[in-house]
Amino acid sequence: MNLSKKEIVDILKSPDMDIFNEADTIRKKYVGDGVHLRGLIEFSNICKCNCLYCGLQSSNKFVKRYRLSKIDIIDIVKKGVEEGFKTIVLQSGEDEFYSTKLLCEIISEIKNFNVALTLSIGEKSFEDYKAFKDAGADRYLLRIETTDENLYKKMHPNADFENRKRCLYDLKRLGYETGTGCLVGLPGQSVESLADDILFFKELNADMVGIGPFIPHPDTPLNKEISGDLNLAIKVMAITRVLLKDINIPATTAMESLNPNGRLLALQSGANVVMPNLTDELHKEMYEIYPNKVSINKLDLEKRLKTINRYIVLDSFGFRNH
Ligand code: SAH
Repeated sequence: MNLSKKEIVDILKSPDMDIFNEADTIRKKYVGDGVHLRGLIEFSNICKCNCLYCGLQSSNKFVKRYRLSKIDIIDIVKKGVEEGFKTIVLQSGEDEFYSTKLLCEIISEIKNFNVALTLSIGEKSFEDYKAFKDAGADRYLLRIETTDENLYKKMHPNADFENRKRCLYDLKRLGYETGTGCLVGLPGQSVESLADDILFFKELNADMVGIGPFIPHPDTPLNKEISGDLNLAIKVMAITRVLLKDINIPATTAMESLNPNGRLLALQSGANVVMPNLTDELHKEMYEIYPNKVSINKLDLEKRLKTINRYIVLDSFGFRNH
């Protein structure tokens, strides 16, 4: 289906919620009732960027910084694999301690476990992305965050919108399953620009799209702002499902953090993926991109999925074209 920008804006502005059911129907038809799990490892909270909204921004002096060694990371992967995870996601701040060579070593060791591997480690050169791909990485997550260039500039001091876009097109070109997404409810963000975000996902032909409400962090310059609207974030997600029918869409942790039922609502409005956190308790707490980040365990999730007639899929890598 195609929707014009105006049609998307109308859906976003209208109180009508039909799009949630429509997205649920399309999700069921194209990707089924199974919920794919991705085991997330947050291996470093050290970041050279200064994104205004992010609790890990370089100028936040209150964060206790950490980085995990290769051995620590592999230990967590091992545990995840024992629990049955078939996809591992490595996420971090933009931490230059991890050289391309070290990252490639980590990637190939993880690939020995016969899992799909997703990276979410920020903006890199084409050559770096190629090296990671050659070492075995399968997927990459890099949210565009917002396609409103002025807002992008305000939110990301010293960053370059064009470079972020370049990264996404490079990742696609290199054959990664490429994930992107946006924040909903950034101060000064318009509904029109959210429509542009959705059209950008379509133009890129994103394989995965993660959408989350903005949640203000007390130690950032946006600490006086209000949280994004969960309903609007789910709507952006639902429209994305309707337009990009067979992609993977996570029910994001930020949605669950705003509402104890956020994850289930998302799964009933287009989402088909959940990303439980495999990081140990101590480091999980230190990876505070926003406050009160909830976590979920597999058993709990299983119980809750039953209540909406859904189930966990663990016997597949969960690629887009399966
Ligand atoms: N350094 C990596 C990973 C970033 S953290 C990268 O650049 O891709 C993952 C995501 O958390 C970000 O893409 C952003 O969309 C989200 N995030 C950061 N701060 C947030 C906040 N205050 N509220 C909600 N989501 C936030």
